[in-house]
Amino acid sequence: MSTDITTFASFGLHRDIQSVLDQKRYHKPTQVQTQAIPLLMDGRDVIGCAQTGTGKTAAFALPVLNEMAEFMPTPVPHKPRVLVLVPTRELAQQVGDSFRTYGRKLNVKVAMTFGGVKHSRQVQMLKSGTHVLVSTPGRFLDLHEQGAVKLDLVKYFVLDEADRMLDMGFMPDIEKVLTELPPQRQTALFSATMPPQIAFLAKEIMRNPAEVKVSDGSLIAKNIDQRVMFLENAKKPDLLIDLLKGNNMKKTIIFGRTKLAVDRVAGQLKDAGIKVGVIHGDKRQHERQKIVQQFEAGEVDILFATDVASRGLDIDGISHVINYNIPEDPEDYIHRVGRTARAGKKGIAISFCGRSERKLFSNIERYISLRISVVRSHRHHSPEVEKLNLKGTPKGKNQRSASGTKHRKTHKDRRSAGAKLKGLPEKNKSNSKKKGDEKVSLAQAKRNRKKAKEASKKEQARLNRIKKYYKQ
Ligand code: AMP
Repeated sequence: MSTDITTFASFGLHRDIQSVLDQKRYHKPTQVQTQAIPLLMDGRDVIGCAQTGTGKTAAFALPVLNEMAEFMPTPVPHKPRVLVLVPTRELAQQVGDSFRTYGRKLNVKVAMTFGGVKHSRQVQMLKSGTHVLVSTPGRFLDLHEQGAVKLDLVKYFVLDEADRMLDMGFMPDIEKVLTELPPQRQTALFSATMPPQIAFLAKEIMRNPAEVKVSDGSLIAKNIDQRVMFLENAKKPDLLIDLLKGNNMKKTIIFGRTKLAVDRVAGQLKDAGIKVGVIHGDKRQHERQKIVQQFEAGEVDILFATDVASRGLDIDGISHVINYNIPEDPEDYIHRVGRTARAGKKGIAISFCGRSERKLFSNIERYISLRISVVRSHRHHSPEVEKLNLKGTPKGKNQRSASGTKHRKTHKDRRSAGAKLKGLPEKNKSNSKKKGDEKVSLAQAKRNRKKAKEASKKEQARLNRIKKYYKQ
């Protein structure tokens, strides 16, 4: 039904909201907006499977604001009407800003609360009354325990990036919040993926939720051009400088693994005359915000960040993401590259893969079921690193197993190695004849099985916790 709607005007949103959308040049609702807005405006609970960058913030913010638009209630001290929980402070800031932007003609009061800043200002904000509260779960519970926020007037509850919440261990906090929420409310839950725990939670906390799904099954948006450059680790600073100086990189985010490395390499960039903003966990909240603002305003073109910044950062027009280090967790890779190519735009994600990271990189390719194209046309390209097998030895060289004995190839091994490589491009298939690859495939298969077993144990434990909670 709603798929026919191609303009925001068809939703019949309040004129003061519609005019903001016109000013922002939102000509067409995105897929998730097309589906979710009419459902939420109808009062339905909605469970949305949508990646970041698909426009999901407006999908839940617009119906909520629309509901209040005609008769904006007077804000009641400590008692918000809308509660939005998000996993990170950056996302809290951005979602809060979006509510303020879309509702700027409505006199809507929006408060954001998150850790890393003093309680007192946030308590004061809540005391003076707010319509919308956007918070991270931990700080929300702190404030709730202090009596600074009460939930009896909440009519809308939004759980954003629910799978991130799960990954970050916030589920027990969420469960506590749920016990405090009035049962008569509308709930929207958004998640990029739908692990069983989230599906279970959704079923438990929502009334006959309508499902909205915009993901096409692939983990990474198709409009992100992903590339990898293989090189020796020591060459990374030089390659980075070459890239930043030689390419048309307007707004670039570079991700590094550790605070130390980020500071060190950013120093080298500065020495090379490249202006760069740095954000990581050691920076105070206001410093981080200032740097992000400078980046958004185009005063600084390059942002160097650790993963703290990768979650939830929503900055328009990021042309390039550079993974200076390969992240250990493939999910972090997805979140990093997802900073570009938002709202249907195009973007480029380049990963620097050093000798010690070859295995991590292969894990990522396996996780996202994609072969990332290799860029060889740069002066630091290392064919040797490219060809390294998963144990860190060049492909095809005789290897020893962990026990020190040579692995004997069996018929079964050959078959399973061949099967594992199915679906890879032809040139990779032909490599499979090499002895090294087969052993790697077997070892990898074993590791994968172990990993899957651990993950399922962890999932089961979480699931049991949720079940236990609902039995109480
Ligand atoms: P989100 O997925 O909510 O983080 O949104 C990603 C980006 O898309 C944000 O920069 C929004 O401002 C932008 N956006 C959301 N909806 C639209 C739309 N209908 N048209 C153009 N841009 C949009």
